[in-house]
Amino acid sequence: MEAVITRKSGVLLDSYNRPIRDLRVSLTDRCNFRCFYCLPHGEPPIAPKEKMLSYEEIEYVCEIFVSLGIEKIRLTGGEPMMRRDIETIIRKLTKFKPGLHDLALTTNGYFLPERAQSLKDAGLDRVTISLDSLKRNVFKQMTGVDVLDKVLAGIAAAKQVGLEPIKINAVVVRGHNEDEVADFAAFARENDVKMRFIEFMPLDSGHEWSRADVVSGKEIRERIEERFPLEPVDAARGSETSSRYRFADGAPGEIGIIAPVTEPFCGACSRIRLTADGQIRTCLFSTIEHSLRDVVRSGASRAEIVEYIESVILKKEPRHFINDPGFVAPSRTMSFIGG
Ligand code: SAM
Repeated sequence: MEAVITRKSGVLLDSYNRPIRDLRVSLTDRCNFRCFYCLPHGEPPIAPKEKMLSYEEIEYVCEIFVSLGIEKIRLTGGEPMMRRDIETIIRKLTKFKPGLHDLALTTNGYFLPERAQSLKDAGLDRVTISLDSLKRNVFKQMTGVDVLDKVLAGIAAAKQVGLEPIKINAVVVRGHNEDEVADFAAFARENDVKMRFIEFMPLDSGHEWSRADVVSGKEIRERIEERFPLEPVDAARGSETSSRYRFADGAPGEIGIIAPVTEPFCGACSRIRLTADGQIRTCLFSTIEHSLRDVVRSGASRAEIVEYIESVILKKEPRHFINDPGFVAPSRTMSFIGG
């Protein structure tokens, strides 16, 4: 099905009539962690600086995206806080409110103890922090760095300055941290945070992902409910990636389960991604990218850039193909794509 009209009431629509409201912008492909499910073999080839979008370019294209109906921007990476002047881009993006409803950051939390306040002051709304284990040795084994205490301090700092609601992301991988799922739920209750469990996806640079390593969303929920009964937050999930639950006993905190492998949610996908080197990706699992950078740098007019973005949105895939026999994983890892 090919839609002729791509925008209705100021919203980008793809060819399956899905409104596109959510943009993930990767600020860098560099990362100071070496999570085994993302960058298992050390430093990836880093794109040369001249290929990366400058802050001026990011600001320019984000303004256009917001004018086309993007309501949420999430800054990610790599580790986005490795761009030292991230506050500058946050300040620039806040100019696009109120059309931009939500400006968030996904981070490994390492730099938050010192920088949470300056992010808040720059106008950031909230953070999502990755935390794969509450045990020092498992954290080190999964992330490649021995900094659990620093990340926990980062979560506390984000809470203290009000970068809320705070979401914590844990990728659950068989044989590594599935036994900690209920402990994480206890952490959510004690710290009043939204704990989100993510199924391991085939986005690792080593292409060593195996279905046997995936802990299903169903199993994650069962493991939590052995200790803490849950209730669904609401039936209407919309375009959210996670199924959300509250604790049945009324305790603070929330659980989100993101199960793209065993329970795909592509039908309601509202997301597109912009890589640090300026490529639009219409799906996490896209095998092709669209160079917005080249269009912008060719001297295209604003109207031509809008036309290009609309044409790319029409190419958004109907769904991912992880569960199909011929599935081919994207060549770029999550750290390049921008998770
Ligand atoms: N550096 C930041 C961080 O650690 O959150 C942002 C980038 S990171 C690529 C974004 C998210 O992607 C993290 O929560 C990470 O755990 C998740 N991720 C990376 N590789 C993944 C994989 N193969 N399967 C599932 N989630 C993955």
